[in-house]
Amino acid sequence: MSNYKNNLSENIYERCCICNKLYEISLKSRKLNKKLKNNETCGFCFRNNFSKKVFIFNVKSLPAFLYVQNHKNKDFLKELNQYVSCHIKSGLKNPVFFYDVETMNWFVDLSKKKISKKEIKKTIVEILFCFNLWDTIPSLNQKRILKSIFQSIVAGNSFFLNLDEFGLKTSFSKNFVKNFKMC
Ligand SMILES: [Zn+2]
Repeated sequence: MSNYKNNLSENIYERCCICNKLYEISLKSRKLNKKLKNNETCGFCFRNNFSKKVFIFNVKSLPAFLYVQNHKNKDFLKELNQYVSCHIKSGLKNPVFFYDVETMNWFVDLSKKKISKKEIKKTIVEILFCFNLWDTIPSLNQKRILKSIFQSIVAGNSFFLNLDEFGLKTSFSKNFVKNFKMC
């Protein structure tokens, strides 16, 4: 019996079938999930009732790039935290946008049919606006980013901004991941 209890307190890792997040789950929680008929999704996706119809995107390579470029400038790092907070607040003003702090992923619930593409676009522009890109990365073609995001929505794919494709070398430094508490 005691072994059984120990087993239930053990944690395992699973990958979410919606957002692809590797998440830690206890065997006890897993048992509960089975009862709730949730065998494949992380807590965030399950709680928000996401289906395959959710559009997932992230622009986390922007703060990651700015972090690497400016890690010695403490004032800038404070500013960067404000940029990230601003992008969360701006996105969440739109009720069909959801944000997972652990992955810095955005989710747009496309099953809410009443939302127009124009409204989605407006929110994504506002999210990008928070990074003050005209000043922080002037060489970046923001129109191209927006175009790529919209092509992904139409094609039904996820969009994860890769700055390498824009000629900017970036990496998710350990300190960046620690600072923004990403998993
Ligand atoms: Zn998930």
